[in-house]
Amino acid sequence: MAGRVSGKSCPCGYKPRSIEDLGKHLRCAHSINRKLALLIARQGCDCYWCRLPLWVFATRYSSHPLRPTIEHLIPKSAGGGGADEGNLRAAHAICNHLRGSMSEAEWREIIAVAMASLPEQGRLTA
Ligand SMILES: [Zn+2]
Ligand SMILES: [Zn+2]
Repeated sequence: MAGRVSGKSCPCGYKPRSIEDLGKHLRCAHSINRKLALLIARQGCDCYWCRLPLWVFATRYSSHPLRPTIEHLIPKSAGGGGADEGNLRAAHAICNHLRGSMSEAEWREIIAVAMASLPEQGRLTA
């Protein structure tokens, strides 16, 4: 899948020329596994849920709450599989964990409330 990455750069400052380039960078420079690197490259280096940057400096072996993890849109507990890549997104470990088995709509409502209570500079515009 070829494609340009417009306005997306890695949190380390690296500016990829393409989705493939970003995927390779995430694997090589940040030791992120292939599947997760591909997901992040496709969606950009922000958490699917809160849209804040994924902390790519933390590896999958760390317990950093902002490290990138693979999120199942339809939770595994509700029959959502990992074989279907359309069901997978990259999200912070903490966002993934706190969502638990909530539906996407329920969880989005909670995120919206949490975001509204953030101080101005941490707030999301979109
Ligand atoms: Zn980087
Ligand atoms: Zn997040």
